[in-house]
Amino acid sequence: KGKEYILRTNSLSKSYHGCRVLQKVSIDLEPGRIYGLIGQNGAGKTTLMRAITGLTFPEEGSIELFGQRGKDLPEERKRIGSMIEYPSIIPYMSAGENLTYYKTLRGIPGKALVGELLALVGLKDTGRKAARNFSLGMKQRLGIAIALIGNPDLLILDEPINGLDPLGVIEIRELIKRLCEERHMTILISSHNLPELYQTATDYIIIHHGSIKRAITQKELEENCKHHILIGSM
Ligand code: ATP
Repeated sequence: KGKEYILRTNSLSKSYHGCRVLQKVSIDLEPGRIYGLIGQNGAGKTTLMRAITGLTFPEEGSIELFGQRGKDLPEERKRIGSMIEYPSIIPYMSAGENLTYYKTLRGIPGKALVGELLALVGLKDTGRKAARNFSLGMKQRLGIAIALIGNPDLLILDEPINGLDPLGVIEIRELIKRLCEERHMTILISSHNLPELYQTATDYIIIHHGSIKRAITQKELEENCKHHILIGSM
């Protein structure tokens, strides 16, 4: 009681073609933490993220964002930045042009913003190079920069580390930590592989066949590992 929440989902359920994809999902996100949403392919991670951002409507349950309840929550959803499924990059544009395009589209002011974001995600030296020629890691970082355009309070990233080489993994992890520490963002990041997020996330939410198995902190995770307790089916 008295706790501040960035997001609370209350018993969200969602089906596709009669098949339950989310089963009474309740999660609470507190400010300034990094939540790793861990689950196998098809566990429902993307669907949960789409429900939070308003891209899909759950059949049951409710969402509270920044202390507000409602169906659409348009103002609150402006405070969410997301990269869900794949980075929404325009391939023939440079990193800077992509950011300028999305900034203009969303009517967000600030002349220095594009340069700041490019520096933040380590893409300042890419010049006029078209985004289609970027490495996967660079594309992911550009996708994160696009998600950061509105300076969100909640950042939602769907599998941003999937398929990256070790250096790419480190770059994304460092970026996520920095966003949390320096910009006080709350971050929800999904992965099918718990070790990928190990020591990046502060809390872990395990999802299996559309249900949340447990929500545990890094400390509890380490304790569990010490005692050789396997987490879910991971
Ligand atoms: P992945 O890592 O493979 O994306 P995920 O945990 O993100 O997995 P979801 O994408 O949420 O899982 O999908 C959960 C289940 O819902 C899957 O069985 C998927 O086939 C199904 N599903 C998702 N979106 C749709 C849709 N638009 N229409 C029909 N079925 C869908």
